[in-house]
Parts: sequence; C-alpha cells; structure tokens
Amino acid sequence: MNGRHSDMKTAKIFIADSHANGAGYSVQIGQRGEFEKILNEIEGSFGINWLEDSHSNCSTSCPDCIRSYNNRNLHSLLDWRLALDLTSAIRGGALRSDLWMPFSQKLIQDIIQNGLLGIELAYVEKLGWPGIISKDTNKAVVFVHPLWLKEEDYFGPTASEISEELKIEYGLQKVSLSSAFTYNRNPNKILMELLG
Ligand SMILES: [Zn+2]
Repeated sequence: MNGRHSDMKTAKIFIADSHANGAGYSVQIGQRGEFEKILNEIEGSFGINWLEDSHSNCSTSCPDCIRSYNNRNLHSLLDWRLALDLTSAIRGGALRSDLWMPFSQKLIQDIIQNGLLGIELAYVEKLGWPGIISKDTNKAVVFVHPLWLKEEDYFGPTASEISEELKIEYGLQKVSLSSAFTYNRNPNKILMELLG
C-alpha cells in the first residue's frame, strides 16, 4: 500500500496468512518482539552467511541464500542484498550502499570487458558509483542503489550531483540512473538507455 507522509512517499506492508485457516504464522509474527527476532535473524546468522566469500558469486539469489521450493514462483524477484537493505530500512537505518557499490563496480567492469554489441564503451565513476559511457551516443548509465528514485524529477542530492557533474566533466548529453538489480533482470533496459 502506498501513502504520503508530509513530503515523503511511504509504503505499508500487511502480512496475512494466505488461507482463512492458515497455520497462524502471521499472528505469531504480529506479536510484540517476534518480528524483531526475525529481523535479528536476517541481519545475524543469515546475513553473515550471505556475505561470506563463498557466496560472492550470487548476483541475485540462489538455493544457498533465499531460494527454496516454496518460493519458486518468486525466484526472479528475490535478492539477498535487497533483503538486508530492507531489514536495515525497517529498523530506521540507512540503505546499504556497501552492498551495492563494489558489486556494481565489478559488474560494470565485466560488462565493458565482455563488450556490449560492439558499442565503444568507457568506465566512469562518481562518488563511488560506477557507470558506462557510450562514446557513440554520448550517453551514460550509472548504477546506483536500486531503491533510489531514478526519474530525474525525483533525484535526491547525491543523484543530482552524479548526473550534473558527469554531464559537465565528459560533455554528455544524457546521464541515466539504473542499478545492478535492474541489469541482472533486464539487461536490455541498460542498452536502451545508452542507445535510445
Ligand atoms: Zn545466493
């Protein structure tokens, strides 16, 4: 559910058992302290395992983190980095840029190394966030945090700074924001931003 709180966009999540005579998990979770225990678990033992080197090749989700047979219809949407991010946000903490910045840098370096339809590309970085410049179209796409608003009218101060400074420094006609989350699910979107 979406809502507005002064000038902030907000969202509410309701948790309910999917059957009227469900197992009662949602009632259990709704009890004082129970939901907190789940958040502790996500940031504790689960999060520690997900951040292990042995799991570093998992770009979205896998059977070693949050995929299971029961959530098989949602596999393409699941993302362990976002799970840690949302846990931090629910507790009033900051978004976890540390989970996305080095990951996005490596991803963009790989994209450029492997080539993208023979387009001439260059790597760029602003405030730690990495991007790709298409030398043919003079456009760039920067991978930022997936939960940042990407429409220019809604840019936050960091997004505006990235976009404006890159335009000036490299004489670019357009700088779009996207994310590793989007690229891993729909790489065409990135291509369209660079070429469109
Ligand atoms: Zn995984």
